[in-house]
Amino acid sequence: MRFNWLIPSALGAASALVITLPAEAAQLQFWRFDARQNQLVFTTDVAVQPRAQLIFNPTRIVIDLPNTVLGSATARQSVGGTIREVRAGQFNEQTTRLVIELEAGYTVNPQQVQVRGQSANQWVVQLPTPERVAAQPSPPPAAVDSGASPNSVSGQPAAGATSRLDSVTATPDGFFVRTRGQVPNIRVQRTGRRNDRRITIDLPDTAIAANLSAQDLPNNRYSIRRWQITQQQTAPPSAQITLELDEGSPDWQINTTNLGGIIIVPPRGVSINSISDRPGPSAPPIATTPTTPAAPTTPIAVPPAPQPPPLPPRIDPPAIPPIVSPPPTVTPPVQNSRVVITIDPGHGGRDPGAVGRGGLQEKQVIFPISLRVRELLEQNGVSVVLTREQDVTLDLEPRVQIAERANADLFVSIHANAISLSRPEVNGTETYYYSDAGLRLARIMHANMLSAGGLNDRGVRQARFYVIRNTSMPAVLLEVGFVTGARDAPLLADPTWREQMAQGIANGILEYVNAYLR
Ligand SMILES: [Zn+2]
Repeated sequence: MRFNWLIPSALGAASALVITLPAEAAQLQFWRFDARQNQLVFTTDVAVQPRAQLIFNPTRIVIDLPNTVLGSATARQSVGGTIREVRAGQFNEQTTRLVIELEAGYTVNPQQVQVRGQSANQWVVQLPTPERVAAQPSPPPAAVDSGASPNSVSGQPAAGATSRLDSVTATPDGFFVRTRGQVPNIRVQRTGRRNDRRITIDLPDTAIAANLSAQDLPNNRYSIRRWQITQQQTAPPSAQITLELDEGSPDWQINTTNLGGIIIVPPRGVSINSISDRPGPSAPPIATTPTTPAAPTTPIAVPPAPQPPPLPPRIDPPAIPPIVSPPPTVTPPVQNSRVVITIDPGHGGRDPGAVGRGGLQEKQVIFPISLRVRELLEQNGVSVVLTREQDVTLDLEPRVQIAERANADLFVSIHANAISLSRPEVNGTETYYYSDAGLRLARIMHANMLSAGGLNDRGVRQARFYVIRNTSMPAVLLEVGFVTGARDAPLLADPTWREQMAQGIANGILEYVNAYLR
């Protein structure tokens, strides 16, 4: 059975965000297929994260709603024309499935199917006009490399892989490597963090399409001098992509997507046009939609969406713009000479963090502190990238990606602590690190927080927290105090104390910056 994954257009990292779904199941409340507009609309009572795929024989678009039960929604709608029917069913205990089945002999281009969130619990699946199934053209013979292009595709065609590497296209956001079948479990290797000259992407269990030739690979785009794609005759066969980068071009972001492929996104400021078009201080950023950094979407016709799909689900008041997907709102500077700090306000959106005395929420304590830290650092000539600038839900992985993408020098995650409400005697400040590089930063941060906040000293501790374990720069996680503590909670709720703590955190960062980064 052949299938293609489709994803909501603006979010490459959708799969990683699914874990933020609420524990309670959603209920499918309503759905309807509008034959005139060729679109399916459905609503659920709480937020959902749909997944869509195209399945053949017969051709049908299948939309799965994880963690959702069917409710009393209609079971079936006959449509007519090129769409046979649309139906809803309980696929398994956790999943409700919507199926749009086409008439025999018709299909749609999966790249033209769009899944859009109108809100966290209302979605639209927009189909293109179905087309008659055409006879498959026979693939041309394996290509021979042309001497004209610096690129190369090499190795004998291979069979028996679960993935096929079909094409590489330059997009307004970077490159899209299209794969068919299973999305390969890629491995990325770089030569260094600051000065990447070469990136190697291994695609296990992958065959290169027989008709892919060197001429099909992008030339001189986004500071890539040369592409090499090699078929390796392992069992199962594997493919390798090597990118030779222009001198000095910094970090690239490389991720697989459920869309069926690999998204390769250059740092902001690197121009699409050619390797000679180098970023400078005044170089305009690449024309990306501000909220779709990794928008994998070349292959999917992305409309100029008025707003990004609100993924992952969120239930914030509508006044807050639904910015939930990673990076977007920040514009990390590209000059290497400037120090860049990533400040990560913990939790947010539907995740309040710890809830303590008098209902005091962790996110309410640490967000204003984070904003103030940014202000203080910027006043001192230090660039700051916040992982979130609003009260929005954000998973851990995108927080790390934001820091990596910004090429940040330090990562500082700000939290407030909690223990049972029956332990009001537990109060104080803790600082966490994971790597040795983080320890040096942690010691400085901890001393500054203690002197600014005046809470108990609960020490510098090592822990395997995701955000400090997966960031490549020195990283710390600060627990400013306990929302459950009888002594701490009133202070954490007090804007004056928060100002002091913000100054302590900013001072700690500046102390580190002045000692080691300037
Ligand atoms: Zn926390």
